[in-house]
Amino acid sequence: MAGILIDKVAKQFGNAVALQEISFTVEDGEFVALLGPSGCGKTTLLRIIAGLEVQSSGKVMIGERDVSSLKPAQRGLAMVFQNYAVFPHMTVFENVAFGLRMKGADQARVEAKVRKAAELLHIEQYLERFPAKLSGGQRQRVAVARALAVEPAVLLMDEPLSNLDALLRLEMRAELRSVLREAGTTTIYVTHDQTEAMGLADRIAVMQGGHIVQIGAPTEVYSRPATRFVGGFVGSPPMNFVNTVAASGQARLGGLTLASPVDGPIVLGFRGEDAKLTDAAGGAPFTVRVAEPMGSHLLLTGRIGDDLARVVAPPAAQIAAGETLGLALDPARIVWIDPETGRTHPGA
Ligand code: ATP
Repeated sequence: MAGILIDKVAKQFGNAVALQEISFTVEDGEFVALLGPSGCGKTTLLRIIAGLEVQSSGKVMIGERDVSSLKPAQRGLAMVFQNYAVFPHMTVFENVAFGLRMKGADQARVEAKVRKAAELLHIEQYLERFPAKLSGGQRQRVAVARALAVEPAVLLMDEPLSNLDALLRLEMRAELRSVLREAGTTTIYVTHDQTEAMGLADRIAVMQGGHIVQIGAPTEVYSRPATRFVGGFVGSPPMNFVNTVAASGQARLGGLTLASPVDGPIVLGFRGEDAKLTDAAGGAPFTVRVAEPMGSHLLLTGRIGDDLARVVAPPAAQIAAGETLGLALDPARIVWIDPETGRTHPGA
């Protein structure tokens, strides 16, 4: 078992900076998701940890070892990538057995570990087939089983579930989580899907433009985003942002008065499920434009002043487009953001 230390790792491709100096640690047995939009540097960072890409500066430690200049095979890790490479000339069994055979495991051990990994990934019935006779999703499960079969101390995954259909993805997500937790595998998982990161990770590192903008537990990142970008990227619907101007330590939105950390222009951030609906006079005026029945809730999209906001109402609420309601907000559940820097005011 091993933790991971990323120490001031930076990467340039020619003149283009893919990673600014990045530092963070992953505890032994922890599951950290690297989450961010396309091009933010997630894959580059993962490939540097794997040894498939060389950092321009900085170092990578796995356990007590500085692996910065070691080849991938010497780093003691397993990888699963989106374009899962399974060997077409080998059966599923031999694909899953590959890493074990490389390590010189005896046949009994190979059999036992392959069966265990195959069971976990629900591919027991395909063990004698060749990959050409599998669907994309099944091949992806073979790739995951192959990585898990060697019981690696560190597992690196890059969008490993992206080729699966929605239901299988959900099922695999839950299984991966329990399997890796049980095995105590230290995992770094790249995804641009925030629900996947929220569901799987002990901590999420949100990346933007080659930086980690925030790293924390899913609930922390969700309810206390460090920046406007994080609040907008994590959560569906995204966090709502309302521009206002505070004076004498207070921001007023219609009938709603909130204590603001500073005076002047400021952005109020809140989650759609944290707003309580009241009558128009008793809260921030919210004019409903669209009411969408989502089954579990009614999703209201409307305006607060010039800003668009999404608010979650009970499924049977009788609310129609065109109505103006009031929104009440719990001061403990809101964030205040500096409109210039996009950063959240600390502790506010
Ligand atoms: P995606 O989700 O689309 O895979 P990502 O967050 O994983 O995106 P990276 O693939 O790490 O992003 O790319 C980060 C930046 O580095 C991008 O601007 C990309 O164009 C650039 N980049 C990546 N690999 C190379 C390369 N081999 N040569 C030049 N530029 C590269």
